Amino acid sequence: MKSDYRDFDATELYCPKCRRAVPVRKRLLLVLAEGDQYDYSCAYCGTSVGDKMDKKKDNLRIPR
Ligand SMILES: [Zn+2]
Repeated sequence: MKSDYRDFDATELYCPKCRRAVPVRKRLLLVLAEGDQYDYSCAYCGTSVGDKMDKKKDNLRIPR
């Protein structure tokens, strides 16, 4: 089981503005062919603290 790092939504991330680990808000940023790009922003000040590519493994295409 390697899926634990996939769902770090509930995990607190470090916010450089608040200078502490903060709860984050997940926001859908882009929908791409290889997956969905999510943006994480600080729940307190709204600063973007990270992003994540949620890959669609089901229809993953590897170009050859
Ligand atoms: Zn913050």
